[in-house]
Amino acid sequence: MTVKLYDIDSHLKEFEATVISCENAVAVLDKTAFFPEGGGQTADTGEIDGVRVLDVQIKDGVIYHYLEKDIEIGKIVKCKIDWDERFRKMQNHSGEHIISGIVHSLYGFNNVGFHLSKAEMTMDFDGILTREDLLKIEKLANIAVWQNVKFNCYYPESLENLEYRSKLDLTEDVRIVEIENYDRCACCAPHVNTSAEIGVIKILDFCKLRGGVRLFVKCGSDALDDYNTRYQNDLKISSLLCAEQSEIATAVEKLIETEGNLKFLITDLKRRLIAEKVKNFNPESDVTAEFESGMDIKELQLYADQLYKKAGGIRAVLSETDGGYYFAICGDEKPLGEFFACFKNAFNVKGGGRGNMVQGTVFASHDEIVKIIL
Ligand SMILES: [Zn+2]
Repeated sequence: MTVKLYDIDSHLKEFEATVISCENAVAVLDKTAFFPEGGGQTADTGEIDGVRVLDVQIKDGVIYHYLEKDIEIGKIVKCKIDWDERFRKMQNHSGEHIISGIVHSLYGFNNVGFHLSKAEMTMDFDGILTREDLLKIEKLANIAVWQNVKFNCYYPESLENLEYRSKLDLTEDVRIVEIENYDRCACCAPHVNTSAEIGVIKILDFCKLRGGVRLFVKCGSDALDDYNTRYQNDLKISSLLCAEQSEIATAVEKLIETEGNLKFLITDLKRRLIAEKVKNFNPESDVTAEFESGMDIKELQLYADQLYKKAGGIRAVLSETDGGYYFAICGDEKPLGEFFACFKNAFNVKGGGRGNMVQGTVFASHDEIVKIIL
């Protein structure tokens, strides 16, 4: 069994240990401060004797360090964990216990899922919480931080008469994490010594999940980084919209409304333009092609249909897109069918149609199209 130094001192960043075994770059030490993956939290990383520790796992009480290469058996080695990342995890995990304790005491819901990695922390509860509930929980959790309450982690002599939260039905080696006045829970992970170390607890978002809710939460340093990212975004948006930061949502609403009005106006103008072009359309040939820009398929269909209705024949209209043209072609069914068969034969075409109309995309240049179809 490996001695778990993180159980004795969760703030131990560097330590010395003896290498008991090392095979295929997997090392066992007599004692370690590296927390192995467990209880929803990913493993610590760091260095042993200058060699990177990539992963840490525990099996039957023995902690295995997955290294970049082998280290010498029997040697006393200097070890260092990536403290910044580990402390962030402690801030988040301890924040999770405070939230779970508050949710349990206020609503009776259990924490039934927990995930903590470098990128995010999620926690699942077996009951529905509303946005209003979450605001209240978040406030109470931060009050617990301000009160600087003690975290006490221990292995109790007996579990009898001890009330505590637990995800698993363990009866042996149960480690208890107790937060003065807030929570008592079975947990194997390293925690802060007092709640002030957490800094801030921020519930970012939630979603419904299997009859309960999943919360997305950031604590401490992660919450501060998140705040800074959002603040920088707000600053940028505020400057782009020439709006006060507190007014950016209203400014975006106005922008969306203006965009909607403009789209409506552009559609109307394009329809008028099509009507004008149709009015002036006096073809000398049975087959014509009109090249346009900025028209969508619906507009092209309308345009081709009106040209055909006015002059008969085969009437193609095309509008530029990436690497080719959108097109709509109208004509009498049989000649249109024959024309479209040649068209598909000549070019890379995606599309089709029925009756008097075919439409789609053709991947060819203006000159190639004109040369073949006119
Ligand atoms: Zn825990």
